[in-house]
Amino acid sequence: MSQDYTSRATNATVEAQYEEYLMPIWKELNVPIRRADDCTVEDFDGNEYLDVFSGISVTNVGHGNDAVVEAAKEQLDEFVHGCTYVHPHQPAADLAEKLAEVTPGNLQKSFFCNSGTEAVEGAIKLARKYTGNTEVLALEMSFHGRTLGSLALTGNKAYKSDMAPTINDVAHVAPPYAYRCQLCDGGPCSCACAEDVERVINTHTADDLAAVVVEPVMGEGGIIVPPEGWLSRVQEIAHAHGALLIVDEVQSGYGRTGELWASDHFDVVPDIMPQAKGIANGLPLGAFTARAEVADAFESGDHLSTFGGNPVACAAALATIEELQDGIVDDTRDRGAWLSDRLADLEAYDVVGETRGLGLMQGVELIDPAETGPMDVAPAPDPKLAKHVGHHLREAGIVIGVGGFHSNVLRFQPPLTIPRDDLERTVAAIEDALDDWDGH
Ligand code: PLP
Repeated sequence: MSQDYTSRATNATVEAQYEEYLMPIWKELNVPIRRADDCTVEDFDGNEYLDVFSGISVTNVGHGNDAVVEAAKEQLDEFVHGCTYVHPHQPAADLAEKLAEVTPGNLQKSFFCNSGTEAVEGAIKLARKYTGNTEVLALEMSFHGRTLGSLALTGNKAYKSDMAPTINDVAHVAPPYAYRCQLCDGGPCSCACAEDVERVINTHTADDLAAVVVEPVMGEGGIIVPPEGWLSRVQEIAHAHGALLIVDEVQSGYGRTGELWASDHFDVVPDIMPQAKGIANGLPLGAFTARAEVADAFESGDHLSTFGGNPVACAAALATIEELQDGIVDDTRDRGAWLSDRLADLEAYDVVGETRGLGLMQGVELIDPAETGPMDVAPAPDPKLAKHVGHHLREAGIVIGVGGFHSNVLRFQPPLTIPRDDLERTVAAIEDALDDWDGH
């Protein structure tokens, strides 16, 4: 007999169970979810919220998308587990073939795992195996996951405190963060951060580089979009040093930026491409895809995952990709362009430093205009204001992301199905919150 977990529950009871029985790793819990539908989540007390964050950029084709749920249910009825690397099964075979078709350029062979961090770490292992080299270069302010390998790449001490040592042989280089650029000296962007990759390789590595790992649009760092030419130049430098370019599309992939892949905006074909989050619209799945010549460096026994490529998750992923290709990505591009223009209006507020993004991955960087920021570049970040806006929106029935390296960026990453009216409602609520701000 199935158990009704929700009949006795309220927001308070589920939060109390969290306090009592889950490890206390969260900073601040957001809306408890009893059920969710498309762009709406409902809590245990019957309140409805517009979801502008998709569980950190995951439910790209909408909560409870019919086609995805149906595909998962059909597979559940067939079988739930087949260990992909012991028993070949159709959903993994079909999804791998589909990824060969829809990933950039000649990327062809995939490995399936369960999460973003596993996808990144698997990609590093493959790069090491293919190149025969060991070191890795990543970006300051980046985020690639929480397990010890990915944590080493993540360029943010906030995630690393008390957790060192991570893997060795990782060097970091400045991110392509024009608003707070320490390299272009306040002048126009000259892509100096791409050129700096060469300097960091020469000064901080033994030139035994297996991979340069980057996010094509930095998510946790604060929705940072690199300048034109940056990604291809970084790839050129990586290749000149015998290294591969790993483009981490965990957060930016699956239609989020108005193209299926953020790499498509920059005409770059990654050497290895980790994916997760939006891949199966909420079912746990990760993948990394490489061209055949690179992928075939792996030999029998080099890698495996018990649950990776779970048939139910793969069936959901196939349905997700079909939904994305059936107009959702195109619509994302249009509504993203509209949102980007609308957010630019917010720059009239002196506490809005910059608005930026691609598709429905947009950020609003909040500042204290009276204070100078780190390294004397741009006004100081204002995380308190960002928190105020986040709370104000929640009171107004809207869930938005608040993050960034300095915790001062509002993050628009809604289900890609969100109507324009709901985007407008969110921007108007932000304006209310800014009007309501009376300093610290
Ligand atoms: N890579 C990027 C770019 C991410 O944004 C994240 C998560 O936010 C990860 C990797 C890690 O993914 P997961 O939390 O599924 O391990």
